[in-house]
Amino acid sequence: MTLSIRWKVTIGTLLVLACGLLIARTLAIRSLEQQEIVRSGQMLETRTSLVSYGLEPFLTQPGTLASTPQLQTAVQDLSTRALARVTVVAPDGQVLADSAVPERGLAAVENHLARPEILQAVATGRGTDLRTSHTTGERTLYLAVAIRGANQATPAVFLRLGLPMTTFDREVAKLHQNLALAFGIAFLIALALSVGLARSITKPLSDIAIAARQLASGNHDVRIRTGSRDEVGLLADTLNQMTDQLRAKIEELSEDRAQLLAMLTSMVEGVMVLDCRGRVLQINPAMERMFDLTGMEARGRPCSDVFRHPQLDTLVSAVLTKRMNEEEEILLHPSGRCLHIEASVTACDRENEACAVLVFHDITELRRLENIRKDFVANVSHELRTPLTSIKGYIEALLDGAKDDPETSTKFLNIILKQSDRLNLILEDLLQLSRIESGKILFKRELLQIQRVIERTLAMIKPLADKKGHKLISCVADDLPLVLGDEDRLMQVLSNLLDNAVKYTPEKGTITVTARPVSDGAKPAAMATAVELSVTDTGLGIPDQDRPRIFERFYRVDKARSRELGGTGLGLAIVKHIVEGQGGQVWVEANAPTGSRFLVRLPVHQISPPVS
Ligand code: ADP
Repeated sequence: MTLSIRWKVTIGTLLVLACGLLIARTLAIRSLEQQEIVRSGQMLETRTSLVSYGLEPFLTQPGTLASTPQLQTAVQDLSTRALARVTVVAPDGQVLADSAVPERGLAAVENHLARPEILQAVATGRGTDLRTSHTTGERTLYLAVAIRGANQATPAVFLRLGLPMTTFDREVAKLHQNLALAFGIAFLIALALSVGLARSITKPLSDIAIAARQLASGNHDVRIRTGSRDEVGLLADTLNQMTDQLRAKIEELSEDRAQLLAMLTSMVEGVMVLDCRGRVLQINPAMERMFDLTGMEARGRPCSDVFRHPQLDTLVSAVLTKRMNEEEEILLHPSGRCLHIEASVTACDRENEACAVLVFHDITELRRLENIRKDFVANVSHELRTPLTSIKGYIEALLDGAKDDPETSTKFLNIILKQSDRLNLILEDLLQLSRIESGKILFKRELLQIQRVIERTLAMIKPLADKKGHKLISCVADDLPLVLGDEDRLMQVLSNLLDNAVKYTPEKGTITVTARPVSDGAKPAAMATAVELSVTDTGLGIPDQDRPRIFERFYRVDKARSRELGGTGLGLAIVKHIVEGQGGQVWVEANAPTGSRFLVRLPVHQISPPVS
């Protein structure tokens, strides 16, 4: 059991007090007793002389002193006068007379030669002793003297006076009682004082303990108030200072941590921190998204177990063993994502501390764009080379002699003209695309009636459609809201789509143009948020796998066919750029049973009332 400081102080104080009081009492009583013994001894000396004087008539008689009634009476008389027990002991130890024993009992009294005071008197002529008497049962101070007889050579008798200490003992007992009472009172006062004292010491200490506990539980606003200027007050002040410093440090650290966390959380790149044994210490949210896992799942586990990617494992073990920064590009399966990893080592290599930091950049899009760019360059070169080769071939043929034949030369020159037109067309489309992309073409933002755009475009395309015997159907809703856009560009979008529909639909097909208002789920149906245009044909259709790439530059399902039909492979790319440049979307779906449906969604001018 552990005692509190309060009890330790109280019990300690009381123990010290009790010991002090006991020692004081013992010393006081012993000193009193010694004084009493000296005083009684002196008294006995005087009385012994007087009694010896009183017994002189018996001692001066010739012969040995015998136990006689006269002696006994004289002894009793002298005892009464001297207020002491008087005993006359023969040199052989026999008690001749004793004031404490009746005469007839003298014979039964034990031989007194072995009594300490008699033994001393035998040896030195005088002996004292303090003990409880066998005869009277009282504590008695004895003084024995040897009284010389007539011949003076040997002691005639030993005269012994016994002074009972009864009165003194009674007083001492009373003193004991008084002292006990005084000690009791002193003890109670001391108890109250020590409890108060202990409390005054322990209260601030327990206040400090409570405050320290609150501090440990995270309450850093706690202040310790003791009010005292002693060591405890000093301790409290020191603790308060410590708390202030701790709070400032914690705030500083929390701020740093929050900034670091904000940085890590907002980073697009995945970040992973490893310890020296390759175990994951931390991953950021981007990393969780990249690998579709949670920080809880990853933390504390070896990196190789968490990701199970041989390339990544090799990189991690190389970084940790060589302690050198490394870079690597890895491919994720089955997502096909491409990650560029930069691994850097830190200065620390202790267990459970950051040893390597890996930053994962998702370069899938970059690689895709790179591929598109490469494809684009290859495509442009190819697209330009085809008509150029053709032109060059026909010019060479003309120079080789064909120019002399007017019919052939006209035919060849027409082909050259057609190819240069095609070259021109490609270059114009490319220029237009590049101007849209670089923002050089600014789209007008005017309120448009889509119905008008459709009518004008259909009128333009009709001759072409008629040539192939296509049926052109227009189905436009009455309540179309106005859209905000560039009329010429939208006509270009619609004409490109209609041109494709005419081109890629075998003769006598049906081409339908529709327009309807649409609203997103959050708004009531009456509040249209967009106008949806669709161009549907009953032509060849576009295979599923080609549909997502159809809006890329030069992407064609059937290159030869497209070229034959005069396509540049840039029409849909231009459509997509124009539509997106005006805040819209374009996509393609399959049309049942055959053909394709191109859909364009354009945002509505919000404050415009619906056109009836
Ligand atoms: P092109 O000048 O070759 O028509 P586009 O960019 O306009 O180039 O179209 C790209 C490709 O998309 C075309 O080559 C064709 O294969 C396919 N395509 C476009 N529209 C249609 C359609 N209505 N039906 C079938 N295929 C189409």
